[in-house]
Amino acid sequence: MTERIVVVGAALVDSGRLLAARRSAPPSLAGCWELPGGKVEAGERTEDALVRELREELGVDAEVLSRVPGEWPLRSPYVLHVHFARLREGSSSPAPLEDHDDLRWLASGEIWDVDWLDQDVPAVREVVELMGVR
Ligand code: C5P
Repeated sequence: MTERIVVVGAALVDSGRLLAARRSAPPSLAGCWELPGGKVEAGERTEDALVRELREELGVDAEVLSRVPGEWPLRSPYVLHVHFARLREGSSSPAPLEDHDDLRWLASGEIWDVDWLDQDVPAVREVVELMGVR
């Protein structure tokens, strides 16, 4: 069996709003929105990978919070894990530096206004559920 590789995504929340990032590549995913993040490298802690990815992709200094329970299948061998995260004090605001061409902070009534990647939808649903009780 092929080993699975974790892709870690951020539910980056600020003032009750969730950050969505629109992918610019690859062509099959471009134009759809996702929770920003990326592949965990060999030997890397998931939380460290998320901090690294958010720095590379968005130029922010993020603090990783609790994990969203669950694991969602992506294209084999990848599986998606999600953690809540927030910007550390003094962090820059997110900017679409790599992989994305637009960002939106979505208020609770706006979460489904964007066209999420199909594979992110169940994770976003879970995130929204948990945001409601936080
Ligand atoms: O960003 P990166 O290319 O490292 O992500 C690895 C793969 O994980 C991508 O091919 C993308 O399909 C997938 N992904 C996803 N949902 C996310 C983040 C990444 O499906 N929120």
